[in-house]
Amino acid sequence: MRIVIIGGGIAAVYLANHIKKLASDVDVMIVSEESYAPYDRIHLCALVDHSATIEEISLPVDATVQIALNEKILSIDKKSKRIFSEHSVFTYDKLIIATGSVPQTLFDISGLKNAAVFRNANDCKQISEGIQDREVVIVGSGPIGLELMETLNKMHSVKHITLIVRSDSLYDKRLSPQARKEMESAYLKEGKITISYEDEILDKKIENNEITLLKTKKLEILNPFLIFGVGIKPNIDFARDTIACDKGILTNNKMQTEDRDIYAVGESAQVKEINFIAGHVKECTLQADVAIANILGLEEKAFHLEVMIDML
Ligand SMILES: Cc1cc2nc3c(=O)[nH]c(=O)nc-3n(C[C@H](O)[C@H](O)[C@H](O)COP(=O)(O)OP(=O)(O)OC[C@H]3O[C@@H](n4cnc5c(N)ncnc54)[C@H](O)[C@@H]3O)c2cc1C
Repeated sequence: MRIVIIGGGIAAVYLANHIKKLASDVDVMIVSEESYAPYDRIHLCALVDHSATIEEISLPVDATVQIALNEKILSIDKKSKRIFSEHSVFTYDKLIIATGSVPQTLFDISGLKNAAVFRNANDCKQISEGIQDREVVIVGSGPIGLELMETLNKMHSVKHITLIVRSDSLYDKRLSPQARKEMESAYLKEGKITISYEDEILDKKIENNEITLLKTKKLEILNPFLIFGVGIKPNIDFARDTIACDKGILTNNKMQTEDRDIYAVGESAQVKEINFIAGHVKECTLQADVAIANILGLEEKAFHLEVMIDML
């Protein structure tokens, strides 16, 4: 049997390694759009402040797993069981889609030198090179934006950070007012961070592919480096024409799509019965275990939401 996994993230690597552990005779291939071998996304901050290299945060992959890098899958042909990138074709017996999420932005930032999201190793390179001599502006106060802000706050090359928050409080309203207050004081202690609550970007001036001025409800910021941390959505556009999708690729609780030979796991999957999309590593690996058990015919496993992890 040949199992092809689309994606080079945590779900893909966990799937590949565990399939090999349970059935070493199965051919497993990872097809990833990234140019780097799989790495652990949760340590991305270490690439921004250069406390680790990409090799140091890489994920170990079983040596018998084939890995095709720089292969962005553009379409799936269910009938012939093939997937297509721009230059290559891969055939499968079972396909697992583990393409994760894409970060959202409030306007199109493609081609802009001083605007970024924070999701992959290339984003880290763009951020660490682009922040020099600029006012860092982070939009959004979710866990990813705040984690990046903490890292940037410790970097000498960053002189000042403005955090733009649409609501009147940090992170999550479910946190107690006391906890939010403590969080806020910790951020403001060094004097390098300004938090602008009940604020949002209203306008911007772009010259030669650079944002030269950001206008928010309350501030005007010259020469910014803008980072959006305003949420993510499943990365599934390439599959929409072929497989039933809602926000994510729709699966049953065995992580199987409407096509019995195609599974979806991790942040790209939406488990229909419980209307659930993963957002943490543990949920991705629980789903991977379920998909593997069903694909290899080991046991009838179903995904249930057992664990919630607070990322802070
Ligand atoms: C900075 C940061 C910190 C985090 N910290 C934590 C934490 O502390 N705890 C926690 O539980 N979670 C954390 N998370 C969330 C966690 O990383 C994700 O839940 C997890 O990575 C999702 O895994 P995934 O494999 O579904 O998707 P991803 O890790 O996003 O992997 C998807 C892969 O698919 C590739 N891909 C996408 N489309 C295609 C295509 N068409 N063709 C080929 N390849 C494609 C992508 O390039 C990527 O390699 C963090 C996330 C970030 C960004």
